[in-house]
Amino acid sequence: MPGSDPSPQAGRCAVTFMDITDRKQAAEAQTRLATAVEQAAETIVITDTDATILYANPAFEKITGYTLAEAIGQKPSILQSGKQDAEFYRQMWAVLAAGQVWSGHLINKRKDGTLYEEDATISPVLDAAGKVINFVAVKRDVTREAALEAQQRQATKLEAIGQLAGGVAHDLNNMLQIILGSAELGLEELPPNHALQAPIQEIQKAARHSADLTRQLLAFSRKQAIRPVVLDLNAAIASSLKMFRRLIGENIHLDVMPSPVGGSVFMDPSQLDQILANLAGNARDAIAGVGHISVKIANRMVLAAEFQDKPDFVPPGDYMTLTISDDGAGMSPEVQAHIFEPFFTTKGMGKGTGLGLATIYGIVKQNHGAITVQSALHQGTTFTIYLPRIADAVTEATEKKKEQVVIGMETILVVEDEAALLKIVQQSLAQQGYKVLTASTPHQALRICKRHPDPIHLLLTDVIMPDMGGKELAEAIQKLRPDIRVLFMSGFTAEIVEKQGHVPDDIVVLQKRE
Ligand code: ADP
Ligand code: MG
Repeated sequence: MPGSDPSPQAGRCAVTFMDITDRKQAAEAQTRLATAVEQAAETIVITDTDATILYANPAFEKITGYTLAEAIGQKPSILQSGKQDAEFYRQMWAVLAAGQVWSGHLINKRKDGTLYEEDATISPVLDAAGKVINFVAVKRDVTREAALEAQQRQATKLEAIGQLAGGVAHDLNNMLQIILGSAELGLEELPPNHALQAPIQEIQKAARHSADLTRQLLAFSRKQAIRPVVLDLNAAIASSLKMFRRLIGENIHLDVMPSPVGGSVFMDPSQLDQILANLAGNARDAIAGVGHISVKIANRMVLAAEFQDKPDFVPPGDYMTLTISDDGAGMSPEVQAHIFEPFFTTKGMGKGTGLGLATIYGIVKQNHGAITVQSALHQGTTFTIYLPRIADAVTEATEKKKEQVVIGMETILVVEDEAALLKIVQQSLAQQGYKVLTASTPHQALRICKRHPDPIHLLLTDVIMPDMGGKELAEAIQKLRPDIRVLFMSGFTAEIVEKQGHVPDDIVVLQKRE
Protein backbone atom coordinates (compact mmCIF):
# COMPACT_ATOMS: atom_id res chain seq x y z
CA MET A 1 0.00 0.00 0.00
CA PRO A 2 1.50 3.37 -0.94
CA GLY A 3 2.33 5.78 1.90
CA SER A 4 3.55 9.45 1.89
CA ASP A 5 5.08 11.81 4.29
CA PRO A 6 4.28 15.40 3.26
CA SER A 7 6.48 17.45 5.52
CA PRO A 8 5.97 21.27 5.50
CA GLN A 9 9.62 21.88 6.49
CA ALA A 10 10.92 20.04 3.51
CA GLY A 11 9.37 22.46 1.04
CA ARG A 12 8.90 20.84 -2.29
CA CYS A 13 10.56 17.69 -1.48
CA ALA A 14 8.14 14.83 -1.34
CA VAL A 15 9.28 11.29 -0.64
CA THR A 16 7.07 8.42 -1.48
CA PHE A 17 7.51 5.01 0.12
CA MET A 18 5.97 1.92 -1.26
CA ASP A 19 5.19 -0.87 1.12
CA ILE A 20 6.00 -3.93 -1.02
CA THR A 21 5.75 -6.46 1.79
CA ASP A 22 2.49 -7.78 0.36
CA ARG A 23 3.86 -8.08 -3.13
CA LYS A 24 6.95 -9.86 -1.87
CA GLN A 25 4.83 -12.16 0.17
CA ALA A 26 2.63 -12.86 -2.80
CA ALA A 27 5.67 -13.74 -4.90
CA GLU A 28 6.96 -16.02 -2.19
CA ALA A 29 3.59 -17.69 -1.97
CA GLN A 30 3.64 -18.15 -5.76
CA THR A 31 7.05 -19.79 -5.66
CA ARG A 32 6.03 -21.98 -2.76
CA LEU A 33 2.91 -23.06 -4.58
CA ALA A 34 4.78 -23.77 -7.82
CA THR A 35 7.45 -25.79 -6.00
CA ALA A 36 4.85 -27.80 -4.15
CA VAL A 37 2.92 -28.54 -7.33
CA GLU A 38 6.14 -29.48 -9.13
CA GLN A 39 7.15 -31.87 -6.38
CA ALA A 40 3.80 -33.31 -5.43
CA ALA A 41 3.51 -37.09 -5.71
CA GLU A 42 0.05 -36.59 -7.18
CA THR A 43 -0.39 -35.88 -10.84
CA ILE A 44 -1.60 -32.32 -11.38
CA VAL A 45 -2.89 -31.28 -14.78
CA ILE A 46 -4.35 -27.92 -15.75
CA THR A 47 -6.39 -27.64 -18.94
CA ASP A 48 -8.32 -24.89 -20.64
CA THR A 49 -12.08 -25.15 -21.03
CA ASP A 50 -11.64 -27.30 -24.17
CA ALA A 51 -9.64 -29.78 -22.07
CA THR A 52 -6.41 -28.91 -23.87
CA ILE A 53 -3.49 -29.51 -21.51
CA LEU A 54 -1.79 -26.25 -20.48
CA TYR A 55 0.34 -27.62 -17.68
CA ALA A 56 1.26 -30.97 -16.15
CA ASN A 57 3.65 -31.55 -13.27
CA PRO A 58 6.63 -33.96 -13.23
CA ALA A 59 4.54 -36.64 -11.47
CA PHE A 60 2.43 -36.74 -14.62
CA GLU A 61 5.53 -37.41 -16.71
CA LYS A 62 6.66 -40.12 -14.34
CA ILE A 63 3.33 -41.92 -14.18
CA THR A 64 2.15 -41.60 -17.78
CA GLY A 65 5.50 -41.77 -19.57
CA TYR A 66 4.63 -38.68 -21.65
CA THR A 67 7.01 -35.74 -21.36
CA LEU A 68 5.62 -32.30 -20.64
CA ALA A 69 6.45 -31.22 -24.18
CA GLU A 70 4.48 -34.14 -25.57
CA ALA A 71 1.51 -33.55 -23.30
CA ILE A 72 1.03 -29.80 -23.70
CA GLY A 73 -1.49 -29.01 -26.39
CA GLN A 74 -2.91 -32.55 -26.24
CA LYS A 75 -6.11 -33.62 -24.56
CA PRO A 76 -6.16 -35.95 -21.54
CA SER A 77 -7.94 -38.41 -23.85
CA ILE A 78 -4.46 -39.54 -24.98
CA LEU A 79 -4.55 -41.56 -21.75
CA GLN A 80 -7.85 -43.28 -22.47
CA SER A 81 -7.63 -47.04 -22.13
CA GLY A 82 -11.05 -47.96 -23.43
CA LYS A 83 -11.91 -49.33 -19.97
CA GLN A 84 -14.42 -46.54 -19.43
CA ASP A 85 -17.23 -46.12 -21.94
CA ALA A 86 -18.44 -42.95 -23.66
CA GLU A 87 -21.27 -42.60 -21.13
CA PHE A 88 -18.71 -42.40 -18.31
CA TYR A 89 -16.98 -39.41 -19.93
CA ARG A 90 -20.29 -37.80 -20.85
CA GLN A 91 -21.35 -37.82 -17.20
CA MET A 92 -17.98 -36.49 -16.13
CA TRP A 93 -18.27 -33.58 -18.53
CA ALA A 94 -21.84 -32.89 -17.47
CA VAL A 95 -20.67 -32.45 -13.87
CA LEU A 96 -17.74 -30.23 -14.89
CA ALA A 97 -19.80 -28.11 -17.29
CA ALA A 98 -22.19 -27.39 -14.43
CA GLY A 99 -19.22 -25.89 -12.55
CA GLN A 100 -19.05 -28.77 -10.07
CA VAL A 101 -16.21 -30.95 -8.86
CA TRP A 102 -15.95 -34.46 -10.34
CA SER A 103 -14.30 -37.34 -8.44
CA GLY A 104 -13.82 -40.87 -9.63
CA HIS A 105 -11.66 -43.85 -10.39
CA LEU A 106 -10.05 -44.26 -13.79
CA ILE A 107 -8.15 -46.97 -15.58
CA ASN A 108 -5.80 -45.18 -17.95
CA LYS A 109 -3.12 -46.12 -20.43
CA ARG A 110 0.53 -45.10 -20.21
CA LYS A 111 2.52 -44.11 -23.29
CA ASP A 112 3.96 -47.65 -23.41
CA GLY A 113 0.47 -49.13 -23.54
CA THR A 114 0.37 -50.55 -20.01
CA LEU A 115 -2.61 -49.74 -17.84
CA TYR A 116 -2.66 -48.01 -14.49
CA GLU A 117 -5.40 -47.03 -12.09
CA GLU A 118 -5.91 -43.66 -10.52
CA ASP A 119 -8.24 -41.83 -8.20
CA ALA A 120 -8.97 -38.45 -9.73
CA THR A 121 -10.58 -35.19 -8.67
CA ILE A 122 -11.23 -32.61 -11.36
CA SER A 123 -12.25 -29.12 -10.32
CA PRO A 124 -13.40 -26.21 -12.50
CA VAL A 125 -11.41 -23.03 -11.89
CA LEU A 126 -13.68 -19.96 -11.88
CA ASP A 127 -12.85 -16.32 -12.54
CA ALA A 128 -14.16 -13.43 -10.45
CA ALA A 129 -17.36 -13.41 -12.50
CA GLY A 130 -17.95 -17.08 -11.83
CA LYS A 131 -17.08 -18.22 -15.34
CA VAL A 132 -15.14 -21.48 -15.81
CA ILE A 133 -11.69 -20.58 -17.16
CA ASN A 134 -9.68 -23.75 -16.48
CA PHE A 135 -9.91 -27.24 -15.11
CA VAL A 136 -7.45 -28.65 -12.66
CA ALA A 137 -7.13 -32.40 -12.19
CA VAL A 138 -5.40 -33.93 -9.18
CA LYS A 139 -4.85 -37.66 -9.58
CA ARG A 140 -3.26 -40.34 -7.47
CA ASP A 141 -1.80 -43.56 -8.89
CA VAL A 142 -3.53 -46.40 -7.02
CA THR A 143 -2.44 -49.33 -9.22
CA ARG A 144 -0.65 -51.10 -6.39
CA GLU A 145 -3.49 -50.55 -3.92
CA ALA A 146 -5.97 -51.88 -6.48
CA ALA A 147 -3.85 -55.01 -7.04
CA LEU A 148 -3.55 -55.59 -3.30
CA GLU A 149 -7.28 -55.14 -2.87
CA ALA A 150 -8.06 -57.61 -5.64
CA GLN A 151 -5.66 -60.08 -4.07
CA GLN A 152 -7.28 -59.58 -0.69
CA ARG A 153 -10.75 -60.12 -2.16
CA GLN A 154 -9.60 -63.31 -3.84
CA ALA A 155 -8.04 -64.58 -0.62
CA THR A 156 -11.16 -63.82 1.41
CA LYS A 157 -13.36 -65.52 -1.16
CA LEU A 158 -11.16 -68.61 -1.25
CA GLU A 159 -11.06 -68.68 2.53
CA ALA A 160 -14.85 -68.55 2.81
CA ILE A 161 -15.45 -71.21 0.18
CA GLY A 162 -12.63 -73.25 1.69
CA GLN A 163 -14.21 -73.20 5.12
CA LEU A 164 -17.54 -74.25 3.76
CA ALA A 165 -16.11 -76.97 1.53
CA GLY A 166 -13.72 -78.14 4.25
CA GLY A 167 -16.47 -78.40 6.84
CA VAL A 168 -18.73 -80.41 4.57
CA ALA A 169 -15.89 -82.56 3.28
CA HIS A 170 -14.65 -83.36 6.76
CA ASP A 171 -18.03 -84.67 7.95
CA LEU A 172 -18.61 -86.40 4.66
CA ASN A 173 -15.23 -88.06 4.92
CA ASN A 174 -16.07 -89.45 8.35
CA MET A 175 -19.28 -90.90 6.97
CA LEU A 176 -17.44 -92.39 4.01
CA GLN A 177 -14.93 -94.05 6.33
CA ILE A 178 -17.89 -95.65 8.09
CA ILE A 179 -19.34 -96.83 4.78
CA LEU A 180 -15.97 -98.18 3.66
CA GLY A 181 -15.22 -99.78 7.00
CA SER A 182 -18.64 -101.42 7.25
CA ALA A 183 -18.39 -102.70 3.67
CA GLU A 184 -14.96 -104.11 4.46
CA LEU A 185 -16.25 -105.90 7.56
CA GLY A 186 -19.27 -107.15 5.62
CA LEU A 187 -17.08 -108.60 2.88
CA GLU A 188 -14.93 -110.38 5.40
CA GLU A 189 -17.97 -112.05 6.93
CA LEU A 190 -19.32 -113.25 3.58
CA PRO A 191 -18.19 -116.43 1.87
CA PRO A 192 -15.99 -115.54 -1.17
CA ASN A 193 -18.57 -116.39 -3.84
CA HIS A 194 -21.60 -115.00 -2.09
CA ALA A 195 -23.99 -113.06 -4.32
CA LEU A 196 -23.55 -109.96 -2.17
CA GLN A 197 -19.77 -109.75 -2.76
CA ALA A 198 -20.16 -107.85 -6.06
CA PRO A 199 -22.72 -105.26 -4.89
CA ILE A 200 -20.73 -104.57 -1.72
CA GLN A 201 -17.59 -104.10 -3.79
CA GLU A 202 -19.55 -101.60 -5.88
CA ILE A 203 -20.43 -99.75 -2.68
CA GLN A 204 -16.73 -99.69 -1.79
CA LYS A 205 -15.78 -98.43 -5.24
CA ALA A 206 -18.31 -95.60 -5.15
CA ALA A 207 -17.33 -94.68 -1.59
CA ARG A 208 -13.63 -94.62 -2.54
CA HIS A 209 -14.42 -92.39 -5.48
CA SER A 210 -16.38 -90.07 -3.18
CA ALA A 211 -13.51 -90.13 -0.71
CA ASP A 212 -11.21 -88.99 -3.54
CA LEU A 213 -13.51 -86.07 -4.15
CA THR A 214 -13.65 -85.12 -0.49
CA ARG A 215 -9.86 -85.36 -0.42
CA GLN A 216 -9.75 -82.83 -3.26
CA LEU A 217 -12.05 -80.56 -1.29
CA LEU A 218 -10.02 -81.04 1.87
CA ALA A 219 -6.82 -80.29 0.01
CA PHE A 220 -8.45 -77.21 -1.41
CA SER A 221 -9.63 -76.05 2.00
CA ARG A 222 -6.24 -76.97 3.51
CA LYS A 223 -7.84 -79.29 6.03
CA GLN A 224 -6.56 -82.45 4.42
CA ALA A 225 -4.56 -84.77 6.62
CA ILE A 226 -1.06 -84.36 5.27
CA ARG A 227 2.21 -85.94 6.12
CA PRO A 228 5.06 -83.93 4.67
CA VAL A 229 8.42 -85.61 4.21
CA VAL A 230 11.73 -84.54 2.75
CA LEU A 231 11.35 -85.08 -0.98
CA ASP A 232 14.11 -85.01 -3.54
CA LEU A 233 12.16 -83.28 -6.28
CA ASN A 234 14.03 -84.84 -9.21
CA ALA A 235 13.53 -88.32 -7.81
CA ALA A 236 9.94 -87.74 -6.73
CA ILE A 237 8.96 -86.55 -10.18
CA ALA A 238 10.81 -89.34 -11.91
CA SER A 239 8.79 -91.79 -9.87
CA SER A 240 5.51 -90.08 -10.79
CA LEU A 241 6.25 -90.24 -14.51
CA LYS A 242 4.44 -93.50 -15.07
CA MET A 243 1.25 -91.97 -13.78
CA PHE A 244 1.99 -88.91 -15.87
CA ARG A 245 2.47 -90.88 -19.08
CA ARG A 246 -0.69 -92.89 -18.55
CA LEU A 247 -2.65 -89.71 -17.99
CA ILE A 248 -1.56 -87.86 -21.10
CA GLY A 249 -1.88 -90.72 -23.58
CA GLU A 250 0.23 -91.62 -26.57
CA ASN A 251 -0.26 -88.66 -28.90
CA ILE A 252 1.45 -86.25 -26.60
CA HIS A 253 5.21 -86.10 -26.42
CA LEU A 254 6.60 -85.65 -22.92
CA ASP A 255 9.96 -84.04 -22.11
CA VAL A 256 11.33 -84.13 -18.60
CA MET A 257 14.23 -81.94 -17.56
CA PRO A 258 15.47 -82.59 -14.04
CA SER A 259 17.38 -79.91 -12.18
CA PRO A 260 21.12 -80.32 -12.73
CA VAL A 261 21.76 -79.10 -9.20
CA GLY A 262 18.93 -80.97 -7.51
CA GLY A 263 17.36 -80.25 -4.18
CA SER A 264 14.63 -81.21 -1.78
CA VAL A 265 11.34 -79.80 -0.58
CA PHE A 266 9.31 -80.66 2.48
CA MET A 267 5.91 -81.86 1.38
CA ASP A 268 3.42 -84.69 1.29
CA PRO A 269 4.21 -86.86 -1.77
CA SER A 270 0.49 -87.31 -2.44
CA GLN A 271 0.16 -83.53 -2.71
CA LEU A 272 2.94 -83.45 -5.27
CA ASP A 273 1.12 -86.16 -7.22
CA GLN A 274 -2.07 -84.16 -7.01
CA ILE A 275 -0.30 -81.11 -8.45
CA LEU A 276 1.24 -83.13 -11.26
CA ALA A 277 -1.94 -85.02 -12.08
CA ASN A 278 -4.01 -81.84 -12.23
CA LEU A 279 -1.52 -79.89 -14.31
CA ALA A 280 -0.92 -82.84 -16.65
CA GLY A 281 -4.67 -83.38 -17.03
CA ASN A 282 -5.19 -79.73 -17.88
CA ALA A 283 -2.32 -79.73 -20.37
CA ARG A 284 -3.72 -82.86 -22.03
CA ASP A 285 -7.18 -81.30 -22.26
CA ALA A 286 -5.70 -78.17 -23.85
CA ILE A 287 -3.99 -80.16 -26.59
CA ALA A 288 -6.22 -81.28 -29.44
CA GLY A 289 -4.58 -84.28 -31.05
CA VAL A 290 -0.81 -84.20 -31.13
CA GLY A 291 1.31 -81.97 -28.94
CA HIS A 292 4.10 -81.48 -26.45
CA ILE A 293 4.26 -81.23 -22.69
CA SER A 294 7.46 -80.43 -20.88
CA VAL A 295 8.19 -80.77 -17.19
CA LYS A 296 11.17 -78.90 -15.86
CA ILE A 297 12.65 -78.86 -12.39
CA ALA A 298 15.05 -76.11 -11.43
CA ASN A 299 16.68 -74.33 -8.52
CA ARG A 300 15.78 -70.71 -8.23
CA MET A 301 16.74 -67.91 -5.88
CA VAL A 302 14.00 -65.31 -5.40
CA LEU A 303 15.29 -61.82 -4.69
CA ALA A 304 13.67 -59.17 -2.54
CA ALA A 305 12.95 -56.93 -5.53
CA GLU A 306 10.89 -59.64 -7.26
CA PHE A 307 8.64 -60.01 -4.27
CA GLN A 308 7.95 -56.33 -3.81
CA ASP A 309 5.15 -55.66 -6.25
CA LYS A 310 3.58 -59.10 -6.12
CA PRO A 311 1.61 -59.73 -2.97
CA ASP A 312 0.83 -63.27 -4.13
CA PHE A 313 4.45 -64.24 -4.71
CA VAL A 314 6.90 -65.95 -2.36
CA PRO A 315 9.26 -64.11 -0.02
CA PRO A 316 12.93 -63.96 -1.03
CA GLY A 317 14.88 -67.18 -0.54
CA ASP A 318 15.88 -70.49 -2.11
CA TYR A 319 13.22 -72.32 -4.06
CA MET A 320 12.76 -75.33 -6.26
CA THR A 321 10.59 -74.64 -9.28
CA LEU A 322 8.45 -77.06 -11.17
CA THR A 323 7.48 -75.80 -14.60
CA ILE A 324 4.90 -77.52 -16.77
CA SER A 325 4.44 -76.20 -20.29
CA ASP A 326 2.12 -77.31 -23.05
CA ASP A 327 1.67 -76.18 -26.65
CA GLY A 328 -2.10 -76.46 -26.44
CA ALA A 329 -4.95 -74.00 -26.83
CA GLY A 330 -3.70 -71.43 -24.31
CA MET A 331 -5.97 -69.00 -22.50
CA SER A 332 -7.35 -65.53 -23.04
CA PRO A 333 -6.61 -62.96 -20.31
CA GLU A 334 -10.32 -63.16 -19.33
CA VAL A 335 -10.09 -66.91 -18.65
CA GLN A 336 -6.74 -66.50 -16.92
CA ALA A 337 -8.24 -64.04 -14.47
CA HIS A 338 -10.50 -66.78 -13.06
CA ILE A 339 -8.61 -70.06 -13.29
CA PHE A 340 -7.73 -70.32 -9.61
CA GLU A 341 -11.31 -69.77 -8.53
CA PRO A 342 -12.98 -72.90 -7.24
CA PHE A 343 -15.57 -74.31 -9.63
CA PHE A 344 -14.35 -72.19 -12.54
CA THR A 345 -14.19 -74.39 -15.60
CA THR A 346 -14.47 -73.92 -19.35
CA LYS A 347 -14.96 -77.64 -19.84
CA GLY A 348 -18.35 -79.15 -20.49
CA MET A 349 -20.71 -80.75 -18.00
CA GLY A 350 -19.22 -83.88 -16.51
CA LYS A 351 -15.75 -83.03 -17.88
CA GLY A 352 -14.42 -80.36 -15.57
CA THR A 353 -14.99 -79.69 -11.88
CA GLY A 354 -13.08 -76.44 -11.75
CA LEU A 355 -11.39 -77.69 -8.60
CA GLY A 356 -8.01 -78.67 -10.05
CA LEU A 357 -6.23 -75.33 -10.02
CA ALA A 358 -8.03 -74.13 -6.89
CA THR A 359 -6.72 -77.24 -5.15
CA ILE A 360 -3.21 -76.69 -6.45
CA TYR A 361 -3.40 -73.11 -5.25
CA GLY A 362 -4.39 -74.36 -1.79
CA ILE A 363 -1.62 -76.97 -1.71
CA VAL A 364 1.00 -74.51 -2.88
CA LYS A 365 -0.04 -71.94 -0.26
CA GLN A 366 -0.06 -74.60 2.44
CA ASN A 367 3.51 -75.42 1.52
CA HIS A 368 4.55 -71.74 1.59
CA GLY A 369 5.02 -71.62 -2.16
CA ALA A 370 3.47 -69.84 -5.11
CA ILE A 371 2.10 -70.60 -8.56
CA THR A 372 2.40 -68.39 -11.62
CA VAL A 373 0.93 -68.77 -15.07
CA GLN A 374 1.89 -67.52 -18.51
CA SER A 375 -0.44 -68.09 -21.37
CA ALA A 376 -1.97 -66.54 -24.46
CA LEU A 377 -4.65 -67.79 -26.79
CA HIS A 378 -3.19 -70.36 -29.25
CA GLN A 379 0.24 -69.90 -27.67
CA GLY A 380 0.23 -72.68 -25.10
CA THR A 381 0.46 -72.42 -21.35
CA THR A 382 3.20 -72.54 -18.74
CA PHE A 383 2.56 -73.03 -15.05
CA THR A 384 5.45 -72.54 -12.62
CA ILE A 385 5.27 -73.74 -9.05
CA TYR A 386 7.67 -72.43 -6.42
CA LEU A 387 8.35 -74.56 -3.36
CA PRO A 388 10.75 -73.59 -0.60
CA ARG A 389 13.96 -75.56 -0.95
CA ILE A 390 15.19 -77.11 2.25
CA ALA A 391 18.83 -76.88 3.18
CA ASP A 392 20.99 -79.91 2.26
CA ALA A 393 22.00 -80.42 5.87
CA VAL A 394 18.36 -80.90 6.87
CA THR A 395 17.85 -83.36 4.01
CA GLU A 396 20.73 -85.52 5.12
CA ALA A 397 19.71 -85.49 8.77
CA THR A 398 16.14 -86.50 8.03
CA GLU A 399 15.78 -90.19 7.40
CA LYS A 400 12.25 -91.40 7.29
CA LYS A 401 11.68 -93.57 10.29
CA LYS A 402 10.83 -97.16 9.53
CA GLU A 403 7.46 -98.15 10.76
CA GLN A 404 7.32 -101.19 12.97
CA VAL A 405 4.41 -103.50 12.62
CA VAL A 406 3.58 -105.24 15.85
CA ILE A 407 0.61 -107.50 16.06
CA GLY A 408 -0.14 -109.04 19.37
CA MET A 409 -2.35 -109.44 22.34
CA GLU A 410 -1.96 -105.97 23.81
CA THR A 411 -4.77 -103.84 25.20
CA ILE A 412 -5.73 -100.72 23.29
CA LEU A 413 -7.96 -97.91 24.52
CA VAL A 414 -9.75 -96.21 21.63
CA VAL A 415 -11.27 -92.74 22.12
CA GLU A 416 -13.47 -91.39 19.33
CA ASP A 417 -16.63 -89.31 19.57
CA GLU A 418 -18.09 -90.54 16.29
CA ALA A 419 -19.93 -93.68 17.45
CA ALA A 420 -19.90 -95.60 14.17
CA LEU A 421 -16.24 -94.87 13.56
CA LEU A 422 -15.45 -96.01 17.09
CA LYS A 423 -17.22 -99.27 16.39
CA ILE A 424 -15.30 -99.88 13.19
CA VAL A 425 -11.93 -99.17 14.76
CA GLN A 426 -12.86 -101.44 17.64
CA GLN A 427 -13.92 -104.27 15.33
CA SER A 428 -10.92 -104.12 13.08
CA LEU A 429 -8.48 -104.00 15.98
CA ALA A 430 -10.28 -106.89 17.69
CA GLN A 431 -9.99 -108.85 14.45
CA GLN A 432 -6.22 -108.40 14.63
CA GLY A 433 -6.24 -110.01 18.04
CA TYR A 434 -6.04 -106.93 20.25
CA LYS A 435 -8.05 -106.45 23.39
CA VAL A 436 -9.99 -103.25 22.81
CA LEU A 437 -11.49 -100.82 25.33
CA THR A 438 -13.64 -98.05 23.90
CA ALA A 439 -14.61 -94.59 25.10
CA SER A 440 -16.71 -92.03 23.28
CA THR A 441 -15.54 -89.11 25.45
CA PRO A 442 -12.22 -88.16 27.07
CA HIS A 443 -13.86 -88.33 30.52
CA GLN A 444 -15.02 -91.85 29.92
CA ALA A 445 -11.47 -92.69 28.81
CA LEU A 446 -10.07 -91.30 32.06
CA ARG A 447 -12.56 -93.33 34.08
CA ILE A 448 -11.53 -96.50 32.26
CA CYS A 449 -7.88 -95.72 32.93
CA LYS A 450 -8.57 -95.37 36.63
CA ARG A 451 -10.64 -98.53 36.92
CA HIS A 452 -9.17 -101.01 34.45
CA PRO A 453 -7.24 -103.55 36.54
CA ASP A 454 -4.75 -104.62 33.83
CA PRO A 455 -2.17 -102.73 31.79
CA ILE A 456 -3.32 -100.62 28.83
CA HIS A 457 -0.56 -100.60 26.25
CA LEU A 458 -1.80 -98.06 23.80
CA LEU A 459 -4.08 -95.05 23.75
CA LEU A 460 -5.55 -94.48 20.27
CA THR A 461 -7.37 -91.16 20.36
CA ASP A 462 -8.99 -88.60 18.12
CA VAL A 463 -7.13 -85.28 18.16
CA ILE A 464 -10.09 -82.94 18.09
CA MET A 465 -13.00 -83.66 20.42
CA PRO A 466 -15.63 -81.37 21.90
CA ASP A 467 -14.73 -81.27 25.60
CA MET A 468 -11.00 -82.08 25.72
CA GLY A 469 -8.32 -82.24 23.02
CA GLY A 470 -6.54 -85.54 22.33
CA LYS A 471 -3.22 -84.10 23.46
CA GLU A 472 -4.60 -82.97 26.84
CA LEU A 473 -6.25 -86.34 27.30
CA ALA A 474 -2.99 -88.13 26.51
CA GLU A 475 -1.17 -86.01 29.08
CA ALA A 476 -3.78 -86.71 31.75
CA ILE A 477 -3.69 -90.43 31.03
CA GLN A 478 0.09 -90.54 31.00
CA LYS A 479 0.01 -89.19 34.54
CA LEU A 480 -2.10 -92.18 35.58
CA ARG A 481 -0.27 -94.71 33.43
CA PRO A 482 3.20 -93.45 32.56
CA ASP A 483 3.99 -96.49 30.39
CA ILE A 484 1.11 -96.05 27.98
CA ARG A 485 2.00 -95.34 24.34
CA VAL A 486 -0.07 -92.81 22.42
CA LEU A 487 -1.27 -92.76 18.84
CA PHE A 488 -3.37 -89.90 17.53
CA MET A 489 -5.81 -90.26 14.69
CA SER A 490 -7.13 -87.28 12.87
CA GLY A 491 -8.53 -85.89 9.70
CA PHE A 492 -6.97 -82.62 10.73
CA THR A 493 -3.24 -83.23 10.55
CA ALA A 494 -2.98 -80.17 8.36
CA GLU A 495 -3.87 -77.98 11.31
CA ILE A 496 -1.13 -79.47 13.43
CA VAL A 497 1.24 -79.02 10.55
CA GLU A 498 0.16 -75.46 10.05
CA LYS A 499 0.75 -74.56 13.67
CA GLN A 500 4.07 -76.35 14.05
CA GLY A 501 5.37 -76.35 10.48
CA HIS A 502 5.59 -80.15 10.67
CA VAL A 503 4.25 -83.10 12.60
CA PRO A 504 6.50 -83.19 15.68
CA ASP A 505 8.77 -86.22 15.70
CA ASP A 506 7.38 -87.55 18.97
CA ILE A 507 3.81 -87.56 17.72
CA VAL A 508 2.44 -90.17 15.38
CA VAL A 509 -0.77 -89.26 13.65
CA LEU A 510 -2.93 -91.85 12.02
CA GLN A 511 -5.05 -90.49 9.23
CA LYS A 512 -8.75 -91.16 9.25
CA ARG A 513 -8.82 -92.35 5.68
CA GLU A 514 -7.72 -95.36 3.72
P1 ADP B 1 -11.05 -78.11 -14.75
O1 ADP B 1 -9.84 -78.77 -15.33
O2 ADP B 1 -11.92 -79.06 -13.99
O3 ADP B 1 -11.82 -77.27 -15.72
P2 ADP B 1 -9.11 -76.51 -13.36
O4 ADP B 1 -9.19 -75.70 -12.09
O5 ADP B 1 -8.08 -77.56 -13.43
O6 ADP B 1 -10.56 -77.09 -13.60
O7 ADP B 1 -8.88 -75.50 -14.55
C1 ADP B 1 -9.75 -74.38 -14.70
C2 ADP B 1 -9.74 -73.87 -16.12
O8 ADP B 1 -8.47 -73.31 -16.44
C3 ADP B 1 -9.96 -74.91 -17.20
O9 ADP B 1 -11.33 -75.19 -17.37
C4 ADP B 1 -9.32 -74.25 -18.41
O10 ADP B 1 -10.20 -73.30 -18.97
C5 ADP B 1 -8.18 -73.45 -17.81
N1 ADP B 1 -6.89 -74.15 -17.96
C6 ADP B 1 -6.22 -74.78 -16.97
N2 ADP B 1 -5.06 -75.29 -17.43
C7 ADP B 1 -4.98 -74.98 -18.75
C8 ADP B 1 -4.01 -75.24 -19.80
N3 ADP B 1 -2.88 -75.92 -19.57
N4 ADP B 1 -4.28 -74.74 -21.03
C9 ADP B 1 -5.42 -74.05 -21.27
N5 ADP B 1 -6.36 -73.79 -20.32
C10 ADP B 1 -6.15 -74.24 -19.08
MG1 MG C 1 -8.25 -79.57 -14.19
